[in-house]
Amino acid sequence: MLVNQTSKLQTKLKKAVNKQQKVGLVPTMGALHSGHLALIGEAQKICEQVVVSIFVNPTQFNNASDLEKYPRNLEQDLAQIQSSYPNVIVFAPEVSEIYGKNVAAEEFDFGSITTFMEGEYRAGHFNGVGTIIKRLFNLVKPDFAFFGEKDFQQLRVIQKLVEITEQPVKVVGCATQREVNGLAKSSRNQRLTEEQKEKAAIIYQALETAKNKFNQSSIAEIKTEIKGIFEAYPEFELEYFEIADVKHLVPTETKQTNTPYRAFIAAFVNEVRLIDNIALNY
Ligand code: AMP
Repeated sequence: MLVNQTSKLQTKLKKAVNKQQKVGLVPTMGALHSGHLALIGEAQKICEQVVVSIFVNPTQFNNASDLEKYPRNLEQDLAQIQSSYPNVIVFAPEVSEIYGKNVAAEEFDFGSITTFMEGEYRAGHFNGVGTIIKRLFNLVKPDFAFFGEKDFQQLRVIQKLVEITEQPVKVVGCATQREVNGLAKSSRNQRLTEEQKEKAAIIYQALETAKNKFNQSSIAEIKTEIKGIFEAYPEFELEYFEIADVKHLVPTETKQTNTPYRAFIAAFVNEVRLIDNIALNY
């Protein structure tokens, strides 16, 4: 069922709370794919009432053209959700419903988690993410909220947000869903040609290479190898490849023992920016 207004959403949620149902929130920007549907599936396992928000949040875009070109397809999104998950409430507000006249991000101090990688290359992005998720949490008051590991830095930001704002939400991280060739599912993949989608498998191959070499090679050696992979594909531009510890997300050149690490990558295919990451040693 589709709800556009906050007041209507809250009326519906009151019914769920009165029935002592657990409420789960899956925030999305729409153009749904099987990665989003997997999150909804996880939510359904532990929550009797699931809310999926579909909202292209303007304050998290640091690039006007990226915001403008972001794929939007509400009718198809609704049809997908309704056919698999008919009891889900879809909350698709207008920008004014969320922001009123002041379309601006709040400032947060997420510490080192937002200093590097997406935080470094997309100025203001995580303040925008924090702003929308804090508002959605306040509106929906979910018991659980579901986020993909595909955006691992975002997942850590949300965990930190819950800590800072002391909201009583349990944050659940869900595994990345991939195409057969390894390319992480993403709404932005819609902007790629079939050939680009095939070639974009090198992003995942780079991550797998890092994982396979992590124990025996130095981080400098791994980085050199990854750069080499990208040099063979001139239409791909590697923005960053970093290895960082999961807790602080600070890129490192040296490995500490008993520390879980992930590799993080961002690359452009023409103007389409793709990100991905992988666990290396845990
Ligand atoms: P988005 O609509 O891209 O903002 O994503 C909404 C949620 O879906 C976020 O928590 C993402 O991390 C998650 N997500 C996006 N792509 C995938 C994927 N391939 N696998 C799992 N989760 C994903």
